[in-house]
Amino acid sequence: MGGPVPRERGHQRVSITLCDSYGRRIEYLRISVTDRCNFRCLYCMPVAGLQWLPKSDILSYEEIAQIVRELAPLGLRRLRITGGEPTLRPELDLLIGMLSSIPGIEDISLSTNGVRLPELADSLKAAGLDRVNMSADSLRPDRIRSISRRNLDFDPIAAATAAENAGLSPIKINVVVMRGINDDEISDFARLTVDHQWHVRFIELMPVGDMRELTWEHIVPGGEILQQLEMVAPCEPALGPSRGNGPARYFRFSGARGMVGLITPMSHTYCDTCNRVRLTADGRLRTCLFGEDEVDLRTPLREGLPLEPFFRRALSTKPKEHHLLQMQIGGLRALSQVGG
Ligand code: SAM
Ligand code: SF4
Repeated sequence: MGGPVPRERGHQRVSITLCDSYGRRIEYLRISVTDRCNFRCLYCMPVAGLQWLPKSDILSYEEIAQIVRELAPLGLRRLRITGGEPTLRPELDLLIGMLSSIPGIEDISLSTNGVRLPELADSLKAAGLDRVNMSADSLRPDRIRSISRRNLDFDPIAAATAAENAGLSPIKINVVVMRGINDDEISDFARLTVDHQWHVRFIELMPVGDMRELTWEHIVPGGEILQQLEMVAPCEPALGPSRGNGPARYFRFSGARGMVGLITPMSHTYCDTCNRVRLTADGRLRTCLFGEDEVDLRTPLREGLPLEPFFRRALSTKPKEHHLLQMQIGGLRALSQVGG
C-alpha cells in the first residue's frame, strides 16, 4: 500500500439510529473475517480444528464493506476485525482500506493472536487500521506452545513492539487467566505496563467452545486477579485509554506508562451498556456473543436487497443480558466461530 488512506471520518450526521428493544444504541460492529486459526488455544479450539466454513459461504471484502456502508448511516461508528485469526485472510489491508474510507467510521481495531503482526503491522496501519488488541497468554516460549498447541515461535513482546513501531495505538494485550496454567504470570504481564505504554487486560476464562481440557476450577475470578496485581505494587483505579474502552476496568501502578485492566464477564455483566453486534464470517448478524439468535445478511445481500430491515429484525432479538453463569462447559460455540 502506498501512504495513509485519506479518511472522511466523523462528519456524517446520524439521522435514524439503530437501537435495540432496551434503548441501547448500536454503534460498534465486530467483524469476523475467517473462522480458521493458526493456533489451537486450550480455551477456544480443539487440536483437530473445527468444521471450517466452505469458502463460498464466507463474505468477500466487498460484501463486508457493503454491510458497513449500509450500517454507517444508521449510527455505526466503530469496527473491530476479528476471527478466527483475521491475519490469515489474504490482503487484509485491502479490507481495512475499504472500511476506513466509509464515511462515519471513526475507529478500526484488530483482534489478533499477534503471530503475523511483525510482518503486517506497517501495511495495516498504512491502510487505515487505528489500533490492535493482541492476545498473549504467556511470556514463556514453552508455555505459549502448550497453550496455543502450535509450534510457531511466537514472541509477544516482539509482536507488540512491531505494532507500536507501526504507530498503532493504543496497544492492548489480552491475557486469558487460567488457574494452574498461567496465573503465575499475572505479575510478569502486569510489570510490562511499567516501562511500556501498553495496556494489559486480564480476562476471566469463559465456558464457551470445546474446552475439553478445562473446568470451572480453571476460572480465576477478577477479584482474585486484582489481589495479585496489588501484590506487585499499589495500583489506583484509572480512566482507560481514550479509545475503545469497552467493558474493561483499569488500574495503574504509580509512575507506570501503561495500565492493567480486568475484563470479568463471569463475575460482572456489562450487558446494560452493550453497544455491540457481531458479523460472522458467513454473514450472520449476532446481537449477543452468548446467545444463539442470528439473522442471515448474506442471502439478502447476494440478492441485492436493502439490509436495514434485516438489521432491525436482528436488533429486536438482542437479549437484555447473557446467562453465562448458568451455561454448561461445551454448551456454547467457540468465540472463533462467532466473532469473539
Ligand atoms: N484470534 C484472535 C485472538 O486470539 O485475539 C481473535 C479471535 S479470539 C476468538 C478473540 C478473543 O477471545 C481473544 O482475546 C481470546 O483470548 C478470547 N477468548 C476466546 N475463547 C475464550 C474463552 N473461552 N474465555 C475467555 N476468552 C476467550
Ligand atoms: Fe485462534 Fe484466537 Fe481462538 Fe486462540 S483465541 S484459537 S488465536 S481464534
